[in-house]
Amino acid sequence: MGNVLIFVEANPDGSLRKATLNAITAGQQLAKATGGEVHAVALAKDAGALANAVKAHGVKVVHAGSGPHFEHYVAEDFAPAVAALATTLKAEWVGAAATSIGRDLLPRVAAKLKAAMASEIMSVTGSGADVAVTRPMWAGAAIATVKLSSPVKCFTVRATEFALAEASGGGEVQPFTPAAPEKPLTKFVGFKEVKSARPALTEARVVVSGGRGTKGDFGPIEGLADELHAAVGASRAVCDAGWQPNDLQVGQTGKVVAPQLYIAAGISGAIQHVAGMKGSKTIVAVNKDPDAPIFQVADYGLVADLFKALPELQAAIKAAK
Ligand SMILES: Cc1cc2nc3c(=O)[nH]c(=O)nc-3n(C[C@H](O)[C@H](O)[C@H](O)COP(=O)(O)OP(=O)(O)OC[C@H]3O[C@@H](n4cnc5c(N)ncnc54)[C@H](O)[C@@H]3O)c2cc1C
Repeated sequence: MGNVLIFVEANPDGSLRKATLNAITAGQQLAKATGGEVHAVALAKDAGALANAVKAHGVKVVHAGSGPHFEHYVAEDFAPAVAALATTLKAEWVGAAATSIGRDLLPRVAAKLKAAMASEIMSVTGSGADVAVTRPMWAGAAIATVKLSSPVKCFTVRATEFALAEASGGGEVQPFTPAAPEKPLTKFVGFKEVKSARPALTEARVVVSGGRGTKGDFGPIEGLADELHAAVGASRAVCDAGWQPNDLQVGQTGKVVAPQLYIAAGISGAIQHVAGMKGSKTIVAVNKDPDAPIFQVADYGLVADLFKALPELQAAIKAAK
């Protein structure tokens, strides 16, 4: 029986991080393939509300661990608590969404459990002893099928590849008392959030991204994004040049997004950028070079100057409204 334990991530304001629900779906597929149950672990100063937010989403038990040292995420505090619970539950699979926190936490949990680790899994294949997972390699140019052979296995989940776990009712919350860290090595000092009126890049239905072709002028990108209630993204060239903050970068070393609509303007379509957006439902590219590689992944391609095409598109959308 391969029980699965999923880490429940909180947003800085304490609410549930949506990507947790994608990780639960991956956990459900693993549990189905191995004949186990899905458990979840929520850690917070008072974990009740966070645990309640997921209990109805196809989880048998949400283990709610409360304590002052869980008020803010610190890997050295969270990893021992997750690893100890996994041992108590005899969990075979321990996972989280592949967010910054999930990527930081799970390798540490894996080290504590002497577990093999698969990062950013995209699907679950096989069943019983033959269960394997797929994950991207070489910026998504190859997809590897990985079978983990250690007794306990850890994983992070590429949220864009799994649906959100639906609320089906039934789960329960069980409080538990994780041991306080003996000698904290790292202390939470502060959190500076970049406030934006736009939707979060990884959760937006529409993303408008600009590349080096903008020459640093994001006026047309932001104008169109505002018209579409979209998030703004950028290529690495833009972020490296300091034209936009790094947290807008889409790609292999940035964020992975899969919105309903992704508009790439003045972006050449390097493999490292495409790795972060090729899962988008519809891709629109605006580039003045007809040979730009972005047109190979685009559903709709417009060979045009973005400074002319984007304001025209914005005006047409406004008129259509
Ligand atoms: C290890 C590694 C990791 C990387 N990770 C990432 C990553 O996460 N994300 C990422 O984006 N990149 C990443 N890169 C960089 C990547 O290889 C490219 O260098 C980068 O994506 C190029 O950005 P760009 O398309 O904006 O610029 P360019 O490649 O310079 O393309 C600019 C495009 O704009 C077009 N253009 C110019 N003017 C106009 C105009 N007026 N109207 C319309 N089109 C115009 C041009 O025709 C051109 O196609 C990584 C590279 C490495 C080596």
